[in-house]
Amino acid sequence: MGLLLVLLLGIEVPAITVRLDNDAGVRRADLEFAKSRAASVFAKIGVQVTWVEAADVIASHIQPPLTLVIANGNVETGAGLFVDALGIAQPGVRRAHVFYDRVLQVQTLRPAPMVLGDVMAHELGHLMLLSHRHSREGIMKAGIERRLLALTTFTKAEAEEITACIQALAD
Ligand SMILES: [Zn+2]
Repeated sequence: MGLLLVLLLGIEVPAITVRLDNDAGVRRADLEFAKSRAASVFAKIGVQVTWVEAADVIASHIQPPLTLVIANGNVETGAGLFVDALGIAQPGVRRAHVFYDRVLQVQTLRPAPMVLGDVMAHELGHLMLLSHRHSREGIMKAGIERRLLALTTFTKAEAEEITACIQALAD
């Protein structure tokens, strides 16, 4: 019995629940695509992301540890805004914003819901990667990927830090 428990714990998948506020009114189909795209970025490093939308949070009374707000760029975040930023992360309050109006203006071959999903994953990354900000490659690259359609993900070091952060949030 004990051994079985150890085996079960041994294969436990790191999982994080994220509150998602669609303040920008992104169309349902586009939002679902973006949610699944962002979750796929994390799935590539073995992390399971579960999205909980505002109405479900109110119904369940459970506040997820991280919040992602999809808003428009004129929103007040209290942390200052960079004109060229598609999103902004505030690790201190475990909340990030993605600016949908700016996402729609990115000149790219990629469809907007794909860009949205990648920016969501990038900003969520900032909430869990406190030791550094950007990488030269992968999803945490500083610049937006304009041509590549393929899914990019976190580096090995980033993946380890994210897993450790999820563990800390769960304790
Ligand atoms: Zn960034």
